[in-house]
Order: sequence, then structure tokens, then C-alpha cells
Amino acid sequence: MRGPGFGMKIGYGWDSHEFKRGIPLKIGGVDIPHAKGLGGHSDGDVLLHAITDALLGAIAAPDIGTLFSPSDQRWKGADSKVFLSEALRRVKAAGYRIVNVDSTLILDAPKIGPHATVIRERISQLTAVAANCIGIKAKTPEGMGTENAAIAHAVVLLEDAPRGIRRKARKKPRS
Ligand SMILES: [Zn+2]
Repeated sequence: MRGPGFGMKIGYGWDSHEFKRGIPLKIGGVDIPHAKGLGGHSDGDVLLHAITDALLGAIAAPDIGTLFSPSDQRWKGADSKVFLSEALRRVKAAGYRIVNVDSTLILDAPKIGPHATVIRERISQLTAVAANCIGIKAKTPEGMGTENAAIAHAVVLLEDAPRGIRRKARKKPRS
């Protein structure tokens, strides 16, 4: 008998990166024109990092910093979709699939509104989740004093995947 919430998992992720002049800005896998980009060991994609951690957290896997250590030269300047792919592979291997994703970005500039649709479509592409199941929201950091940082919160809901999908994902992809 299936009780309430049987076969479902929730995951939560949070990340922040500091703005630095003269580097490209990438949020949700999308290049956004701006004078400053997000610093960090990888491409600094704060939103993909939060979603990756939410996926990993939902299946109680090690977090993004443990799997992709900032001290590991392999991940220097890495495209964050590599991290997301590994989280997705682990979710499938654990027997789950994504129901929906929701997120909130907190940053002073640039305005995310004009880019939200493109970001949603990009994340839909990367995760194979329908765009209408991906929430992208943005706020300014009123009274928080974090004007030189971008912060992202993300939650994901997972459900039991049909068995066929589960078997296929068990094979480890080439790295
Ligand atoms: Zn990060």
C-alpha cells in the first residue's frame, strides 16, 4: 500500500558567487551581457550549482563541492552543465525522475526578467524537464548588503521513475 509521499523526494540547494569585473556572466547555462561576471573555480553559474545541489540532496548524494572539489584542476573554468549532468545521472541511477524545479535568484543587477524565458528553456533542455515545470524567479537583495554577489536557491521534487528508465541510467558514462 502506498502512503502519502511514497516514492517522492524533495531536494534543496543554495549557492552564492561574487561579481568580478571583466569576466563573462553565465546564469542557468545562458550567457548574459553584463560588465561583471561571477567568479569561482568553474564558470560560476550560481543557478546551475544550486539546482545541482538540490538534485544531489534529494537522493542524499555527496554535495557539489565534494564531488567536484574547487582544489581539483579538472574543474577550473569548467562548464557547470558537467556538474548538472552528473547529478542527473545519479538521480536516474537511484531510480528517480524530476517532477519539477523551482528557483529564486537574488541579485542587484542585471535584471533577470528579460532573460527568464531563455534560462527556463535552457534548463529544460539540460534536464529534459518541461519548461512549464521549471520556475525561475528573481529578487533584488533589499537590505541584505549582498549587492556584489549573486545568490540562488533551488528546490526539486523527484518521483519514482518507471523501471525501464532506471536500468538504462545505471551504466556509467565516459568521463
Ligand atoms: Zn557555485
